[in-house]
Amino acid sequence: MYALPDLPYSYNALEPFIDEQTMHVHHDGHHATYVKNLNDVLSGHNELLNIDTKELLKSLDKVPEEIRTKVKNNAGGHFHHSFFWRIIKPNGGGEPKGRLLELISKNFKDFNSFKEKFKDSALSLFGSGWTWLIVNPDGKLEILNLPNQDSPISVDKTPVFTIDLWEHAYYLKYKNKRADFIDAFWNIVNWEQAEKNLNS
Ligand code: MN
Repeated sequence: MYALPDLPYSYNALEPFIDEQTMHVHHDGHHATYVKNLNDVLSGHNELLNIDTKELLKSLDKVPEEIRTKVKNNAGGHFHHSFFWRIIKPNGGGEPKGRLLELISKNFKDFNSFKEKFKDSALSLFGSGWTWLIVNPDGKLEILNLPNQDSPISVDKTPVFTIDLWEHAYYLKYKNKRADFIDAFWNIVNWEQAEKNLNS
């Protein structure tokens, strides 16, 4: 069985950048539903209920075809949200350090150029999905838009950090102003966690 992880901080800890009400709806509503649906669709497939969501997303071809899309969507939803809660934190922001900053500078010129490119990419994502910073098997960083709950894990990319661009992630506070949400997001990025993800 899969379980909803607690947030690693309180629901109001990301104010004013992400409001308390959005965190409740997002975590207790949306994330919880992915977990419930994943358990429901896998009931009767016990061998798949006891593996890590990451393993599930890496080997979707092993999931029976008739439940594969539901598993992809809900395992993705569960894994991505668990990842997202840790990539943000109260009093986050600033700049990445160490190997992550080196790679960002190498791949995108400098941190500010990277931020611009990431924002442009996030604004260009049509509909629901996520913008990812990923590292390829050859060590090169890349910004990637993926729709819905499609996972970088399923295409052999290691996620470093991400922003959730489903409207449920920002609509209560930011309405249709996705750009304002992206600008606010830089204030809560947990760059230490991003570097851990890079080195994992
Ligand atoms: Mn979400």
